[in-house]
Amino acid sequence: MAGLKLDSVGKSFGELAVIHSVDLEVDSGEFVVFVGPSGCGKSTLLRLIAGLEDTTSGRIAIDGADVTETPPSERGVAMVFQSYALYPHMTVAENMGFGLKINRVPKDEIVRKVGEAARVLHLEELLGRKPKQLSGGQRQRVAIGRAIVRNPKVFLFDEPLSNLDAELRVQMRLEIARLHREVKATMIYVTHDQVEAMTLADKIVVLRSGRVEQVGRPIDLYADPDNLFVAGFIGSPK
Ligand code: ADP
Ligand code: MG
Repeated sequence: MAGLKLDSVGKSFGELAVIHSVDLEVDSGEFVVFVGPSGCGKSTLLRLIAGLEDTTSGRIAIDGADVTETPPSERGVAMVFQSYALYPHMTVAENMGFGLKINRVPKDEIVRKVGEAARVLHLEELLGRKPKQLSGGQRQRVAIGRAIVRNPKVFLFDEPLSNLDAELRVQMRLEIARLHREVKATMIYVTHDQVEAMTLADKIVVLRSGRVEQVGRPIDLYADPDNLFVAGFIGSPK
């Protein structure tokens, strides 16, 4: 069964069409990376999957269920953004549990889920700290923790590491790969970084002006790009 299926998905903002009839099938548990130039529609596509924007046309299904009209909180998705807006007055544990609390999840269950996410992300020692007492990498881990506690079917990452310095990016990339092995959820990951795309992806989707230009395994895109545009992002030109 497909973990995620987009069927002729289109999106316009007024007169401006930004996503044109995108078809995509992602296996359950697959790690898919979106690449493409700034403005090509990567974030919009993630927001459509999350339900933060309504589609103009087409259908979206998650684990076989049509979610096109389903509110974001009921889709079973969790999104991690580039700017990890944490609540400054809350502790790490409170930040991670906040979404569950407003959904009226019982307190002991919140404590258990936050503890489990903290274990996966090596944040156990930091649960009582406030965001300003954390490094950039630790803050981004808390943001990922907020997604994990919701136990989503699909994780959506929008350039989550682009604010971090190079060394930390490598470390966090390895952590995200480990997270994927551990939770086995479907993951859709947007990045500008070719190394992230090549090393994290089971499958890379190259987007161009709101259309899918090429889809394939990293090694296939690298060795055999359809054209110079794809080669410019991933491959070695023919
Ligand atoms: P990317 O993430 O690939 O850089 P985006 O998905 O952010 O691209 O944007 C795709 C296009 O849609 C851009 O031309 C952008 O200006 C436009 N766009 C995105 N969100 C809106 C919006 N809320 N209203 C109008 N135009 C938008
Ligand atoms: Mg974007």
